[in-house]
Amino acid sequence: MDVRVSHVRKEFDRFPALHEVSLDIKSGELIALLGPSGSGKTTLLRLIAGLERPTSGKIFFGDTDASEKSVQERNIGFVFQHYALFRHMTILENVSFGLKVRPRSTRPPAGEIRRRAMELLDLVQLSGLEKRYPSQLSGGQRQRVALARALAIEPAVLLLDEPFGALDAQVRRELRKWLREIHERTGHTTVFVTHDQEEALELADRLCVMSQGKIEQVGTPDTVYDTPSSPFVFGFIGESSELPVTVERGDVWLGDRPLGISAADGQGPAKLFFRPHDIELVEGDAALRGVVATSRRVGGTRRVELELGGASHRVEIDLPFDHPAGERSQISFRPKRWTLFPAT
Ligand code: ADP
Ligand code: MG
Repeated sequence: MDVRVSHVRKEFDRFPALHEVSLDIKSGELIALLGPSGSGKTTLLRLIAGLERPTSGKIFFGDTDASEKSVQERNIGFVFQHYALFRHMTILENVSFGLKVRPRSTRPPAGEIRRRAMELLDLVQLSGLEKRYPSQLSGGQRQRVALARALAIEPAVLLLDEPFGALDAQVRRELRKWLREIHERTGHTTVFVTHDQEEALELADRLCVMSQGKIEQVGTPDTVYDTPSSPFVFGFIGESSELPVTVERGDVWLGDRPLGISAADGQGPAKLFFRPHDIELVEGDAALRGVVATSRRVGGTRRVELELGGASHRVEIDLPFDHPAGERSQISFRPKRWTLFPAT
């Protein structure tokens, strides 16, 4: 089912949690809503679910205006960070619940419900644990049960709000891969909320980056990482350094130092962004020159923090060799790939 969020605004007591946002979610895709805490991710998810009503704007499921429909009518599957399973029910009963409580006219026969629940437990790799109670499972296993329960009703849309947020880093990484595999097998239209950019980049077909109740950028992980559309997105996704520069007659300057890179258009103050690995070491005057402040290992390279212009600016670059910190460790480099945004 494709979902269209059209000019939706949401206020809580006049506080705009979401400014007018529009978003097209394609049928069968896994889209991640990514942004810092308070950016409006959960609000947008709850609006899609029907747990909140928009202050203005509409939400379409396919061609149907769903704005006035209830959660049940929208047929939503949910997993929250702390969506407690029913403690007094076994795992099998938990997964069957959504089907058992359906009105008789749409409820499958008991045998069919059981067969489907067992199939889902197999899908989430928990076969054999169906008679256990939630308290007898690990956190990661419980979230897998929660996912099976959400899938049992064959939801039109699956909504996941930081489902792995309470789990430790290794379990999170495993579940991330696992969820991607499940998604590829089941193909549900899925909206996944997270504040963890690594999780979003790895999991999602597309990212929707949010900040302060607005959508900053929507695109594939590659597009968003390689061509961030705003200083916020550049700073939020991946590692980056930012320098306040000036563009003058096509050249980019940091104070009175030319950087050896040119800007096709623009004039005056600007923000220069680049990633630690997108640099080259160079000789000569047209370059950035800095003193090594700190040096640490990141995977197979050294991440070096440089102080530029008498410590007034700091940037991070990757070097293939070790470099001791200190006055004598001067490094000259130039960004190979960069983005300039006009200073605001
Ligand atoms: P996120 O999920 O990105 O952390 P939320 O959507 O939960 O952000 O919240 C966005 C903003 O809306 C926050 O400033 C939050 O305090 C506010 N907000 C969310 N829900 C309510 C509510 N029920 N009442 C009042 N303010 C709310
Ligand atoms: Mg939230």
